[in-house]
Amino acid sequence: MHCGLCLDACPTFRVTGLETESPRGRIYLMTQWKRGQMTFDEKQVKHIDLCLGCRTCEAVCPSGVPYGRIIEAGRSEVERMRRPTAKRWIAKTALRQLVAHPRRLRAFGAMTRVAQAVRLTSVVSSGRQLPALRAAFKPPADGVAPAIGTRPYRVAFLVGCVMPILYPQSHDAAVKLLQLAGCDVWFPQNERCCGALHAHNGDLQEAERLRDYNSRVYASGQFDALVVDSAGCGSHLKDFYPELKGRVKDLSEWLAEIGMPQPKRDVKVKVTYQDACHLAHAQRIKKQPRELIRSVPGVQLVEMRHPDICCGAAGLYSTLEAQMSRRILDEKIDDLTSTGAELVVTANPGCQMQLAAGLSARGSQVRVEHVSELLVRAY
Ligand code: SF4
Ligand code: SF4
Repeated sequence: MHCGLCLDACPTFRVTGLETESPRGRIYLMTQWKRGQMTFDEKQVKHIDLCLGCRTCEAVCPSGVPYGRIIEAGRSEVERMRRPTAKRWIAKTALRQLVAHPRRLRAFGAMTRVAQAVRLTSVVSSGRQLPALRAAFKPPADGVAPAIGTRPYRVAFLVGCVMPILYPQSHDAAVKLLQLAGCDVWFPQNERCCGALHAHNGDLQEAERLRDYNSRVYASGQFDALVVDSAGCGSHLKDFYPELKGRVKDLSEWLAEIGMPQPKRDVKVKVTYQDACHLAHAQRIKKQPRELIRSVPGVQLVEMRHPDICCGAAGLYSTLEAQMSRRILDEKIDDLTSTGAELVVTANPGCQMQLAAGLSARGSQVRVEHVSELLVRAY
C-alpha cells in the first residue's frame, strides 16, 4: 500500500528521518533488486544492514506485510551477492563455528570468565558489553527439574546458546517459576542453538541445518509446551519450526496461561518494563509480562513513554552497526531514566546486555534484570 504508517514506528527512521532507513524504503529496495528493476549496488546494502530486524513495522502495518520474513529472505540474497567484509565474515564464522556448538561456546565462556577475573577481557573479546560472567547454567544431571507440589504439566525448556553463559541466573529463576507453577521441566539432551541469530544475520542455510537437528531432538520427548525465556529465540521457534506450531510459549505467556501460585512475600521496588521487540512485535505479547509483574505485592510498575521501541541491541547489531545502535540506545536510556525506576526488567538477553551497557556508560545506578528474576523473589 505504500501508506507509510510504519515509518514513525521504525527506530532507524525516527533517528535519521530518511526514507532509505525506513521499512517502506527497504522493502522498495529489496523488491527492485528481486525484480531486476534496479542493479544491485553494494553502497545501497547499508540500508539493509541498518535494519534492526525489530519488526515494529510489522506490528503496526495495516496490510499485514510480513516484514520479518521479507528481511530475512532479503538478507540471505544480499549475503549471496555482496563482497564479504572482514567484520561480516568474522560474524558469520563465529555464528557457525562457535554459537552453533554448545561445548565450544561453553569453553569460550569459561575462558572469558577467567580473563575477566584477571582483567584480560580485551584479549578474549571486545568485552565492552559483557556482564561479569558466573558459572554457566547447568540442567540437572537426570535432565528433569521436578514440579514443586502438584504436577499437571510437563514442559521442555530451551537452554539455548549464549543465555546459559551470560545470564544463568535468569534461567535459574525461570526454571524455579515453572516448578512452582506445577511443571516438570525437561531439558532436551544435545539441543543446540535454535538458529535465530543465524537467520537474522542472513545465514538461512545454517539456520535450517540447526532447525533440522533440533527438530529431531524435540521429537524424542513428550511435552505440553516448549518454554522459552529469550524473546528472540521464542519468536524464531514459532516462525521457523512448523512441527512445533502452537507449542512454543514464551515464559510469561505460559505462566499467565497456567497461573502462578499466590506470591509469598512483598518485593518493594519501582520498576519499568522494556518490551523486547521479538516478544512485543513478533509474538505480540505485551500484556502477560506486565500482569505478572503487577501481581507481585510491593512492586510499583512505571511505564516509559516508548517501552516498545527497540533498545538497539538486535543480536549482533550493536557490534556490527555500533554507531546507529548507540544513537538508538541513547534515546532509550533517556526514556528509561526519566521514569525514576530503580530497576528495569525485560525478556531477552541481548536487551539485558544493551540496557546494562547504556546505563553503566551514564554512571546510572538503575539495575537490569530478566522478568523471571523479579518474579521469583516473590516466592
Ligand atoms: S524491522 Fe525495525 S528497524 Fe527494520 S524496518 Fe522494521 S521497524 Fe525499522
Ligand atoms: S509496510 Fe505496511 S505500513 Fe509500511 S508502507 Fe507498506 S503497507 Fe504501509
